[in-house]
Amino acid sequence: MTDAYERLTASLASADPEIERLIDAEGRRQSEKIRLIASENYVSEAVLEATGSILTNKYSEGYAGKRYYEGQQIIDQVEELAIGRAKDVFGVEHANVQPYSGSPANLAVYMAFANPGDTVMGMGLPMGGHLTHGWKVSATGKWFNAVHYGVEKDTGRIDMDEVADLAKEHRPKLIFCGGTAIPRTVDFPAFAEIAREVGAVLVADIAHIAGLVAGGAHPSPVGHAEVVTTTTHKTLRGPRGAMIMSTAEHAKAIDKSVFPGLQGGPHNHTTAAIAVALREAAHESFRDYAHQIVANSQALARALNDRGYDLVSGGSDNHLNLVDLTNKGIGGKPAAKALDQAGIELNFNTVPFDQRKPFDPSGLRIGTAAVTTRGMTEGDMDLIAGWIDRTIEAAKADKTDQYSTIAGEISEFVKQYPIPGWSES
Ligand SMILES: *Cc1c(COP(=O)(O)O)cnc(C)c1O
Repeated sequence: MTDAYERLTASLASADPEIERLIDAEGRRQSEKIRLIASENYVSEAVLEATGSILTNKYSEGYAGKRYYEGQQIIDQVEELAIGRAKDVFGVEHANVQPYSGSPANLAVYMAFANPGDTVMGMGLPMGGHLTHGWKVSATGKWFNAVHYGVEKDTGRIDMDEVADLAKEHRPKLIFCGGTAIPRTVDFPAFAEIAREVGAVLVADIAHIAGLVAGGAHPSPVGHAEVVTTTTHKTLRGPRGAMIMSTAEHAKAIDKSVFPGLQGGPHNHTTAAIAVALREAAHESFRDYAHQIVANSQALARALNDRGYDLVSGGSDNHLNLVDLTNKGIGGKPAAKALDQAGIELNFNTVPFDQRKPFDPSGLRIGTAAVTTRGMTEGDMDLIAGWIDRTIEAAKADKTDQYSTIAGEISEFVKQYPIPGWSES
């Protein structure tokens, strides 16, 4: 670690020992657990350092060359580097790197292409979509007339016939594809054909799979979707932030929508960290990383299948598995809580056509991006599936004393896989 980073952590320890202690405790927690939350990752020390830099001190409303504050000589270069790298990594004509996070990025897309009351279409949240794809509790569901598609009951895969039928019936202005709990490849060309037929703008929200797309482990939406939104902190392994990418045709509308439409000053420290993450993503080793995420996800699918677990769609093409616990006789929530106590962190999730309530659903969502960053490979996935199974069986038998035994085994096991940015002091 650099001197600058050591100086920084030393100042925090003396200026605010309470927060310093909590950050250290969270580092230990992240290090000691097996983290299978599908939207999470471990960023590099370089990304951490950029995120914690003095770039946070600067206001830069506007875009390079047209700012509303002076002193942008350096910030303009930072933002242009991030934009250029996004264009190279994803092969897009335009990139806006200013959205504060994935949700505001999507809202900016609505602002650019639709008016309140217009019809939009996205995947239903309980089917694997995202709140911002028009779900009713979200602003996007309150301000727009949202229509939702889902998956086929027998295959667990996106029902493209339903997408086509709903699109023809409702003629939405925007069609969102992508989501938060889709274990299979998204068929961007098929979505593009439907969008073209009804005159809708296709938005590929690749928040979950951006790292796989960058690393060539999932087909790219570019050339099919006119607009691509993504967070930068999931499989892409950058800071918490987002980007909107598009064809040159939509560049102006998107930029205007982000600023001044929706946001004020960009978070320049985040922009710099996005640039760093994109440089990492352009490296050959990132291709290996992306493919290993998928190999691990498929190994985990096999290992869970072998132990009698049902997977929505039967398996995984990407970084995530969605486990349906119905046949195991335990809900997703008690299972997730037991696993957390046993040292395995993941989230309970609805499964398509869930018979249980959203806050007490039947599923577990399991992602491999974070454990792959630590260096784990296929053989480790079998161990993880074994621990998951033992914990769930213990939970069912109410043998809660087993959790700490398993947690102990796990904290020993993960010592061979240190995490960036934290170590035993
Ligand atoms: C995570 C996610 C978002 C929202 O990102 P936040 O940064 O949490 O606002 C939007 N769309 C999809 C598909 C996501 O997975």
